[in-house]
Amino acid sequence: MRVAVGSGKGGTGKTLLSTALALVFEDCTFLDLDVEEPNAHFLLHPEMDGEEDFFMEVPRVIKQCSLCGKCAEVCEFNAIWVGKEVHVLEKLCHGCGSCIHFCPEAALEVRKRKAGVVRSGKRGKMRFIQGVLTVSEALSPPLIRYINKNYAREPFIIDCPPGNSCPFVHSITPADFVILVTEPTPFGLEDLKGAVEVVKDLGKNFGVVINRATLGDERIRQKMKERFPVLMEIPFDRRIAESYAKGENLLPEMMGDELRKLLEAVR
Ligand code: SF4
Ligand code: SF4
Repeated sequence: MRVAVGSGKGGTGKTLLSTALALVFEDCTFLDLDVEEPNAHFLLHPEMDGEEDFFMEVPRVIKQCSLCGKCAEVCEFNAIWVGKEVHVLEKLCHGCGSCIHFCPEAALEVRKRKAGVVRSGKRGKMRFIQGVLTVSEALSPPLIRYINKNYAREPFIIDCPPGNSCPFVHSITPADFVILVTEPTPFGLEDLKGAVEVVKDLGKNFGVVINRATLGDERIRQKMKERFPVLMEIPFDRRIAESYAKGENLLPEMMGDELRKLLEAVR
């Protein structure tokens, strides 16, 4: 099982669902890739047992450079430019290494800069992994890629960052199936459309879960069901919100059978 749980926008219940699935499945790796504000640990309460620093590898000039401009030419991210000397905009650098590789004078070398941490822990049979981006870092994709490459051991469930942009795209890369969590509101529908486009472009299988399905606009809920493969609906229940606020996830207790069916559908 290689599943990612995303949402076109924040606040739809993505983490509620991803943690509920992990609690039901139990023997899996849970990856919290919402690295700018990871919060799945509040619901899973893992016992933490490890921490690894994450470093961005940025270039620096180490010897005489001919100012040929090749490094700036090959940088896709405009993170290096050449005037009277070479300037590296470290916060824009993705650490791809192209500038170092293509420098004809071998004038650049890698400098490591700490940009976050990867924490690990466990809860019963579940392995818990959490990425935490350093405050003020502009780019989360390098940390997300690093965690997926080094920690995504099957079966896994990924809690993606909200939205449809780069961090989401990098989060779902190793997944075979993407669950998109939404709510029946005009905002929910618009953001869902964007997320579906991204997932389709990447050739991923996907399905939709409508959260707070009994709250909101019934016409939009019907439209979602007509247009997208809706796999599950979670009715609004005040007890879910109240328990969430206390750091508890009531979904496995209230909708265990539905969650097991959802897991069967996405495996
Ligand atoms: S590619 Fe190398 S030699 Fe050319 S400007 Fe960049 S650092 Fe200098
Ligand atoms: S490592 Fe990649 S992203 Fe960073 S400056 Fe060099 S080419 Fe640009």
